[in-house]
Amino acid sequence: MASVKLTKVEKAFGAVKVLHGIDLQIEQGEFIVFVGPSGCGKSTLLRLIAGLEDITGGNLEIDGKVVNDKSPKERGIAMVFQSYALYPHMTVYENMAFGLKLDKSTGKDEMDTRIREAARVLQIEDYLERLPKALSGGQRQRVAIGRAITRNPKVFLFDEPLSNLDAALRVQTRIEIAGLHEKMSDTTMIYVTHDQVEAMTLADKIVVLNKGHVEQVGSPIDLYERPNNLFVARFIGSPA
Ligand code: ADP
Ligand code: MG
Repeated sequence: MASVKLTKVEKAFGAVKVLHGIDLQIEQGEFIVFVGPSGCGKSTLLRLIAGLEDITGGNLEIDGKVVNDKSPKERGIAMVFQSYALYPHMTVYENMAFGLKLDKSTGKDEMDTRIREAARVLQIEDYLERLPKALSGGQRQRVAIGRAITRNPKVFLFDEPLSNLDAALRVQTRIEIAGLHEKMSDTTMIYVTHDQVEAMTLADKIVVLNKGHVEQVGSPIDLYERPNNLFVARFIGSPA
């Protein structure tokens, strides 16, 4: 059973169609990267999976269940955005606890354990009592990732999480995200970027999007050595 399955998924904003019949099967524990030029529909596709946009055609399944009409909370997903979106008046600890407090099924001790474990993995244990304004951009992004981890998502979605970081931090955070994939080996990760290097280094499988269509799906090596067409070759940077 696929972790996430899209069948002829379409999205239109009013009369404007931005996703055209996307078919895709993502297995549990895979790290999938959606890559493509600006405006091709990457964020829209991710937001559809998250339940932040309504699907206007086709079917979306998570863990074998159709979730077209399910709320984000019911889907068992967590999402990290480009902007860190932390609550400025809450400490790092409180920011990480926030999503869990809404989910009444998580007890206080369990919540505390999960927060401290995520903080340890992301090396932000020393900052738990600080406010976001006392952190660097990279640290804030790690808090946002930590907040998502504490919710034990089945599917973890990232939308260009590195694009607001400077070059050195981008590399470091990319390595941390690769490490997370190793540690959270049962968690499906779907990652959006327009950066070929990020895609090639992080992905088990890359989905190349162009104008709301899938051009090709394959491993980084597949796409590099056997691009389906000139668009994929140019975008991935292979010599074809
Ligand atoms: P990407 O993330 O690949 O840069 P997006 O998914 O953000 O692309 O956008 C895909 C297309 O959908 C673009 O043409 C964009 O203008 C359009 N679009 C995105 N969100 C909306 C919206 N809320 N209303 C109307 N058009 C939108
Ligand atoms: Mg986008």
